[in-house]
Amino acid sequence: MSGIAHPTVTFDDRFAREFKEMAIPWRAEEAPDPRLLVLNEQLATELGLDPAFLRSPEGLRLLIGNAIPAEASPVAQAYAGHQFGWYAPRLGDGRALLLGEIGHADGQLRDVHLKGSGRTPFARNGDGQAVVGPMVREYIVSESMHALNIPTTRSLAVVATGRPVQRETLLPGAILTRVASSHLRVGSFQYARSTDDIGLLRRLAGYALARHYQAGAEAENRYLALFRAVISAQASLVAQWMLVGFVHGVMNTDNMTISGETLDYGPCAFMEGFDPAAVFSSIDETGRYAYRNQPLVAEWNLARLAEALLPLLHDDQEQAVGLAVEALSGFRRQYSEAWSAGMKAKLGFREGLDDDTASPLVDELVALLQESRADYTSFFRHLGKAARGQDEPARGQILGTAVLETAHLDTARFDAWVTRWRALGPDADAMDRVNPVYIPRNHLVEEALAAATGGNLGPLERLMDAVASPFDERPGLEHYATAAPESFGPYRTFCGT
Ligand code: AMP
Ligand code: MG
Repeated sequence: MSGIAHPTVTFDDRFAREFKEMAIPWRAEEAPDPRLLVLNEQLATELGLDPAFLRSPEGLRLLIGNAIPAEASPVAQAYAGHQFGWYAPRLGDGRALLLGEIGHADGQLRDVHLKGSGRTPFARNGDGQAVVGPMVREYIVSESMHALNIPTTRSLAVVATGRPVQRETLLPGAILTRVASSHLRVGSFQYARSTDDIGLLRRLAGYALARHYQAGAEAENRYLALFRAVISAQASLVAQWMLVGFVHGVMNTDNMTISGETLDYGPCAFMEGFDPAAVFSSIDETGRYAYRNQPLVAEWNLARLAEALLPLLHDDQEQAVGLAVEALSGFRRQYSEAWSAGMKAKLGFREGLDDDTASPLVDELVALLQESRADYTSFFRHLGKAARGQDEPARGQILGTAVLETAHLDTARFDAWVTRWRALGPDADAMDRVNPVYIPRNHLVEEALAAATGGNLGPLERLMDAVASPFDERPGLEHYATAAPESFGPYRTFCGT
């Protein structure tokens, strides 16, 4: 390959070498005029990449796979997947590439991956391109999730390619450089299983254990240990989404990781007014991936993973099914425990508080939020003020959308609830450490995407500044802590763009 790559970083090609059945060697398309839109300097440094180098013309070419080190062998990864419940046997990276694996400061490997790097043999009818708006959305939301302490793939950079891309209108093309603890998905295992090559399936499971669940590799039934570990990681992840009001939007099995990181920020959004039925994706007509369905869908996806892993769990199929069912039954319990513990933390309860005391308060509050459609994020943040004796901001969120006739009822209910809750001595500082002030508000994300598409990076930079420290309330950033104005209307997001 042409050019000099960064001298201190070496790309491993472990996946490409070990999984030739699932990896097609491929090259990123040349970008006519690469321009850096945003660079994650801190992440770059953690990966041993010099931000100043990455900003140079040669560095930009590395970020988009146009000038890669000689030892790198980029591949398009094969995977299958259930999309909205329908099985697609061959999806794979249609517009993405795995550049290779590099070492992170924490001692673990990371995948460096490109999204929008041109057509691959998996592209089907797609053009292989990505455009600035959606790639910047993934950058903003994934980095927000990271700052919110929720497991996620990371975003290293977005580079505009200089190539116009046909969507509804002509839009500027872009590439997202994504960093993940791996790109193994439920769909990767579905693909391996569908080849009927049990050796491949076993190697893939071994690779997943080595990369994510080293302790499981020592277990008596290491493949069952892998399945159990994925169940736990996903139960915890989805509970965290629910606690922060995140709607992923396209929980197909090809978008669900083995690592337990959030993957693929397409039609995702944070809800504002609390609504269990919240769904933002324009293509999710039945609400399959609505907010309240996310735990059920995760469990359904894990059942698909179980099917793929069955031949590894036990030689006898009946016994394998028994083991899988038993393991999967742990999902609901672990999800509920994670969610309840998270809710207790949001309410400032000490860890040891018994469920008989906490649960009725949680249930009543959820009902109150649902009826009032209070802004989910602001309400919990303001509740920290109520723990300090200042009830008005949280009460205001409950009343914000109430019709006049019911307002006094809501006020009375809220006040009675606060009295009971405060009697338990909620810890306001602890609440402020888990209830964010700043999430990527949909109207601000849209504003930042539109501006970035037009070449103005100011709104993106300011939004990133707010969401990068979501728990740290700062004067002057009130705009970033406020729900969308009425005029913004119902929010719709679009997939596959
Ligand atoms: P996603 O909705 O991003 O999870 O993508 C689902 C599948 O469609 C994956 O196999 C992608 O690689 C593929 N895909 C999405 N957009 C494009 C595109 N513009 N060109 C080629 N493949 C695409
Ligand atoms: Mg995907």
